[in-house]
Amino acid sequence: MKMEPIASQLATAPPRLSVVVPCYNEEAVLDMLEARLSAACAAQMGDDFEIVLVNDGSKDATWAKISALAARNPHVLGVDLSRNHGHQLAVTAGLQVCRGDLVMIIDADLQDPPELLGDMLAKIDEGYDVVYGKRRERLGESRFKRATAAMFYKLLNRMADHEIPLDTGDFRLMTRRVVDQLNAMPERFRFIRGMVSWIGFEQVPVEYDRDPRAAGESHYPLHKMIRLALDAITSFSTLPLRIASHLGVMMGLIGFLMLGWALVRWMADGTIIGWTSLIAVVLIMGSVQLLILGVFGDYLGRLYLENKRRPLFIVREIRSQRPPAARAVAPEPFEPLAVVPTWIPAGQRD
Ligand code: UDP
Ligand code: MG
Repeated sequence: MKMEPIASQLATAPPRLSVVVPCYNEEAVLDMLEARLSAACAAQMGDDFEIVLVNDGSKDATWAKISALAARNPHVLGVDLSRNHGHQLAVTAGLQVCRGDLVMIIDADLQDPPELLGDMLAKIDEGYDVVYGKRRERLGESRFKRATAAMFYKLLNRMADHEIPLDTGDFRLMTRRVVDQLNAMPERFRFIRGMVSWIGFEQVPVEYDRDPRAAGESHYPLHKMIRLALDAITSFSTLPLRIASHLGVMMGLIGFLMLGWALVRWMADGTIIGWTSLIAVVLIMGSVQLLILGVFGDYLGRLYLENKRRPLFIVREIRSQRPPAARAVAPEPFEPLAVVPTWIPAGQRD
């Protein structure tokens, strides 16, 4: 295969910027995305960037589109996952494969404006390690989604052992040292914005208005949002495990009061009425105990799945006009998070 001069240059040195884009059924927006993102990157970086498009087991023509883009554009690197692994793991795959000194994460649907790159870079130049997008307006999102998101972040921050910024998604620019740390974190249940905030260094928000989706539809139905919320809470807090003891103390106190009251009644009039209150106590105690058992079960199940140490994702194929990085494994002491197969030059096999 004949290499363009730019492609051979990219092959030798890591680019200054990588942009990681998770794509699930995004055939309708990919062309628009490539145009706007390339323009935004070229304006800031000249030729020194790569765009990593991760196909997360799409059911539509997303991968065909990505392969075509990779064959045409030397900046594009296509990563095809073996099946749908979910948004957070698709981003994780992109972060493992990309090589840039700076890494931006952005959604495929252009809800987050790529043009914010300039502002984000300015903050990096000031010495920050993480610049995250903070949503001022959320256009085109239902009132329900906004209200539940707001409630969730409040709850999370109450429970989490450390601060997680409000009203942020995964749209952000990070330095290589942050990405390396992130790649070294082996956990399966990933809540990336929380993990980045846990890593520390200097982090700063830039505010922006979130646009409606450019095309296609949201892939975050309610049940996926709930799953992400549960991942976030169980990854960053053990408070639910301690609820049992708090409740136990509370119930114990109430129990003693009720016992005192029952004894007084017994001495006063020797009563035996009380079926209703008895049933109430049995039902409430029974459901509280089952609920707490469920919470324990949830943590235990996660522990079990983590403990298997399976790869987080499986890559079917990588397409680009240059070989991908050998950086697709996590640094010691962790085992590789994923096995990346041989590279197939874009356009060579179709
Ligand atoms: N996404 C993904 N895998 C999934 C679901 C979503 O890679 O299983 C990607 C999707 O293509 C998009 C991003 O994650 O780039 C955010 O998804 P979406 O825009 O549907 O969520 P919303 O913005 O509505 O919360
Ligand atoms: Mg979206």
